[in-house]
Amino acid sequence: MEVPFYGHVRQYHNLKKEIDEAILNVLESGAYVMGPTLERFEKELAEYAGMAHAVGVNSGTDALWLAMMAKNIGPGDEVITTSNTFFATAEAIWIAGATPVFVDSDPKTHCIDVSNIEDAISPRTKAIVPVHLYGQCAEMERVHEIAQKHGLTVFEDNAQAIDAHGDTFKIGQFSAAVGTSFIIQKNLGTFGDGGAVLTDDADLAQHVRKLRNHGSLKRSVHSFGFNSRLDDIHAGILSVKLKRITEWSDRRREIAAMYTEGLKDSGLILPYEKPGYRHVYHLYVVHTPAGQRDDLLKYLNDNGVDAKLHYPIAIHQQEGFPWGKPYRIAGDLKNTEFNAANCISLPMFPELTQEEIDYTIQTTLEGCRKIL
Ligand SMILES: *Cc1c(COP(=O)(O)O)cnc(C)c1O
Repeated sequence: MEVPFYGHVRQYHNLKKEIDEAILNVLESGAYVMGPTLERFEKELAEYAGMAHAVGVNSGTDALWLAMMAKNIGPGDEVITTSNTFFATAEAIWIAGATPVFVDSDPKTHCIDVSNIEDAISPRTKAIVPVHLYGQCAEMERVHEIAQKHGLTVFEDNAQAIDAHGDTFKIGQFSAAVGTSFIIQKNLGTFGDGGAVLTDDADLAQHVRKLRNHGSLKRSVHSFGFNSRLDDIHAGILSVKLKRITEWSDRRREIAAMYTEGLKDSGLILPYEKPGYRHVYHLYVVHTPAGQRDDLLKYLNDNGVDAKLHYPIAIHQQEGFPWGKPYRIAGDLKNTEFNAANCISLPMFPELTQEEIDYTIQTTLEGCRKIL
């Protein structure tokens, strides 16, 4: 049996009629860029997220750096974040012109370990970028307290956790802006690239609207800007999918519960759901206890389970920095390095079948018996 890692085409087939219609409507309308389909999706997204403004942009990476730039984060500034994330979190900080400062991740949730943040603050620190990793929120109430105390601005990297929240807070409540990604593999993904900035700050939203469109809000009138727009075809597709997001995250949670029950005696370290947090399982990440990861990954892949790694080389372990390290490390990054050495992501998408779920559990158990 082959269990794929992604279910994009299955999802398309399930919604084919509505998605085809949404695409054809845009094609027939003649309005492909900055048109009414984008405007409608931005309204729907803002309403769904409970935020005043959503601004569609070209990617999740752009969403983050455009928001930072709109709040004047730039050269000379430091931004505290985590090295235990997709590369783009740091990339966005670099593009804005600032320097990422990495603190270690929490050994259980793998999100930023908030207890490390205060020690990392320097006179140059301007912002904190927590990442809602794998589909679970970082501890935003504590991040907010620290930010308030030290006068720092918070930007949330929410590429992975749309529809997650805490019982007592929502994503976006404690920050200047949230950056979301709509690349296909995210929980809300289009057939291509896309992203959005969500904010309650009208000035910030307006500034991003200007930056994304060549510094222009009015035809022929420009100031400093870029080209980073969300195309109307993608907005049309995302409108169809947004209506399903809660149902899809519920299904992800159901699959996660089956994995967790099935693997409880496997010897693996299983995902930790922080009490009072809705984890939406963008990824279901297990950890080998002591470096047996590559053998287990090979066993799974050889037996048809397309497990993958998120992220086997943390950002500070990357070597593609020929001009010296463009970041600062605060404290040690032990938990991040443990994650890089031991993480394995099992197939996780709402369209997985019961047979595929059962086969993944059985194959993982067999692999663990042989290898751990
Ligand atoms: C995917 C991702 C991004 C970047 O999103 P793109 O749309 O690919 O630019 C940023 N941060 C995290 C944590 C991500 O997973």
